[in-house]
This record gives sequence, structure tokens and C-alpha cells, in this order.
Amino acid sequence: MSENHEKKNLRTPIVCVMGHVDHGKTTLLDQIRGTSIVKGEAGAITQHIGATEVPIDVIVERCGDKRLRDKFIVPGLLFIDTPGHHAFTTLRSRGGSLADLAVVVVDINEGFKPQTIESLNILKRFKTPFIVVTNKIDKLYGWKSNPHAPFLTTYKKQTPETQALFETKFYEVVGRLYEQGFSADRFDRITDFQKTLGVVPISGLTGEGVSDVLMILLGLAQRFLESALHYNIDGPGIGTVLEVKEEKGLGTTIDVILYDGTLRKGDTVVIGRLGEPIETKIRALLKPRELAEIRYESKFKQVPKAVAACGVKISAPGIEEALAGSPVIMATPETIESVLEKVKKEIADVQIQTDSDGVMIKADTLGSLEAMVHEFRKAEIKIRKAEVGDVSKRDVMEASTIEDPMHSVILAFNIKTTPDALELMDEHPSIRIFTNDVIYRILDDYKNYIKEREEELE
Ligand code: GDP
Repeated sequence: MSENHEKKNLRTPIVCVMGHVDHGKTTLLDQIRGTSIVKGEAGAITQHIGATEVPIDVIVERCGDKRLRDKFIVPGLLFIDTPGHHAFTTLRSRGGSLADLAVVVVDINEGFKPQTIESLNILKRFKTPFIVVTNKIDKLYGWKSNPHAPFLTTYKKQTPETQALFETKFYEVVGRLYEQGFSADRFDRITDFQKTLGVVPISGLTGEGVSDVLMILLGLAQRFLESALHYNIDGPGIGTVLEVKEEKGLGTTIDVILYDGTLRKGDTVVIGRLGEPIETKIRALLKPRELAEIRYESKFKQVPKAVAACGVKISAPGIEEALAGSPVIMATPETIESVLEKVKKEIADVQIQTDSDGVMIKADTLGSLEAMVHEFRKAEIKIRKAEVGDVSKRDVMEASTIEDPMHSVILAFNIKTTPDALELMDEHPSIRIFTNDVIYRILDDYKNYIKEREEELE
């Protein structure tokens, strides 16, 4: 196979940005998207549905060293626009993760927080290569920013006092990473990224260090993922539902991250839902319009096909019950039976890991449900039922039949309780619903509740 041929068949790695709330995930993504403003010969970033593609030429130009161009064979990086471990766990594929790489953002001034640890746990479990960025270095006392220089150049310009402050704060984060089982160091001090986790100091606000982040991600993709990124351009399209959305004039649509093959308008696809999968035909494939065109038309334009890796919106009949986090697989008359079976099994695999008694777990997507089940199993808590969807009246009714107060409990991740369920709750004061958007907090709340009950009994 010629080198060129290989290049053509290496898809863009998919990158997720994770970390604690307010530590700067969105700002970093904006900064990366802002790369398009650099108007050069390099071309521009491409806006997908739910994701942004930064081509290799743009990254190289941003780094200011065109000689780097020949070092890389991946075509660029595809950043998922929604940050957080929520998007990461939604983007699942066959029990693994669809994200090839991740960036964990830690505010250097604040250090580790619950969602930092949760992100690390999820990445450990999925064995996803990642880097950590210590963000907001511009806020360190005395720090003089230089947005366009690489980190090391800026670092050398600081006073010894500011450098010392930086080192203290930085190595606090490295120490916490060590507690979580990671040998980590500043990226420019690492000789072997296989053994050591790279930590990159950045400011998402000023942009300093961001080109280092892009370079290291490319390096990781090349080192760890090359074989995983080979794909079949002409093969059947395979993706994951990122979101199910109503769109004006289009009805229900699904936002899909496609990670293998090609999807075309008119293709038959199988999509996951609870119970039997959906079999439907693609009515339209949609991509975002350029900003200039948006004023007078809809936000989306039709495209004849979508090629992995990309984000695309699908309009098709009968997709109202599609599940976020479930597979979307193209099928032909020859493959339809096996594809239907495969999708059905994948959904069932997540739903059936339940015990004969225990608590009820509900979550917003298959991936987050899977993550919840995993964490509760690890804490040796029995699970009677694990299901996707809001807390419903039926759930409360079911919980009301459970006599054990330890188990007449509903643990709800990132979902609402429907009004009729709330009404019914008034009649059953013994039922407890613990709800949060951090799995750890739900776990802690539940453990505290158990402890209180046990103390009452004593
Ligand atoms: P997210 O919740 O992790 O997505 O955090 P955001 O990106 O929304 O950032 C939270 C706040 O921190 C916002 O007010 C940002 O402007 C601010 N922020 C983010 N990155 C930086 C940074 O590098 N330096 C400074 N000074 N502020 C930042």
C-alpha cells in the first residue's frame, strides 16, 4: 500500500473535552474553533453537526512550523462540541468509547474537583488516551501572557517568583494525578508518553499553550491509535446517536457522529431504541450552513452523503424513540437481519445487568446509564432496574411496592421527574429520589442515606 493510499484511509480522530464545571472546557473549545479566524492558505476548520473539524494544515499553521506537516499522517482532529463526561459516555460504540482521545481540563488555581476525578475514572475504564491541561495560567499572580508563543517561551519570560508559584500549583495537580494512579509530568519534560501522562499548561482565554495541546493530541493519535483509525470509506456507515432533537420544519432528527464508512440519502439504517430497533430510510442528511447563508434560510443544508469521521444530522420517518448513545448502522437487504439483531443485542446488554432486588437507576442516555451501573456495582450496591428516561409515575409505583427502605430508592442521573410522578411521591413519603448530574454525588447521597437509616435502626 502506498503511503498516500494509507493516508486516505486514516480517519480523523474524535476528541472529547472533559473536566469540572467552570474549569474552562467551553472556552478551550471556543479557542480551538477560533482557529478559523487565522486566514491563511491553510484553509478553514469545518463545522459539523455536534463537532468541529480542525484540519492538520490549520494546526501546523497555528504552531508556526510548516516542517511539522510531514510528521503527521492523521488528517486533523474532530472535536465534539459538547464538553463534559456526559457527551463522552453518550458516544459509546460496542461497549467502548467512540472518542479516540480526550482532554481533561483542570483550573490550575482550583486544582482537582469531583468531576475531575469522575472524568479520570471514566477514561481509565475506557482506556482512552488523554492529556490533562492546567488551565487559567493567565490568572496566576504576576503572569505575563503571550498568546501566540509556545508555552516554554512564555514561561521563561516570567519572574522567578511567578515561575515558582506556577511550579507549586502545577505540581499539586501532578500529585493529585499520581494519587489517581497516573505518572504525570509537564509535556516538554516527558520522553516517553507511553509511560507518562502529558500535562499541558494553557490559558483557554488568551490561547497560550493551545497549539501545544493540538500538537500533542496529534502525536498521541499517531502513537496509540494508528490501527484504530484505519477505516473503510466505501463501507456501510456506522455511527452513534449524540442527540435526538426536534427541528423546525424537519420534525424529529438525530444528530449522529459517524465513525466508519459512508451514509447516503435514501440508505436504510437501523437505530437503537428500547425493545425492537428502528428500521428506517434516510430522508435527508444535513450539515450546518455557512454563517453567511444563515440569515435567509434554514440553519441546515442537505448533503448527498456523509463520510466518517464527521457529525451529521439525519432526518428520517419514525425516529422519535431513538436513544441517545445507541448505534446507527446502515443496512442492505442482505445485512438487515444481522444488523437488527446486533443493534437489539447492544441495547439489551446495557439494560439487563440487574439483580433480583436493589435500587432503581435511571439516566438520560445509554452511556451514562452504563457509567452509573458500573460505579454502583463497584460500590457493591445492588441494582434492581436500570433504565433510560425521566423518572415516571410507573417508576414511583414500582418503588412503592418495595418494602426495604434501602431499596425503595430511585437514583436519577441528569433527568427530570415527571409532574405526575412527583404527585404520586406525596402519597409515598418513604420513597426517595436522589438526583444529580455528578454520579459521585448521587453515590455519596445514597451512602449517607443508608448510614442514617442504619443509625436510626440502632
Ligand atoms: P466550563 O464550564 O468548563 O465549560 O467553563 P467555561 O469555559 O464556561 O469557563 C468558566 C469561566 O472561566 C468563564 O467565565 C470563562 O471566561 C473563564 N475562563 C475559562 N478559561 C479561562 C482562562 O484560561 N483564563 C481565565 N482568566 N478565565 C478563564
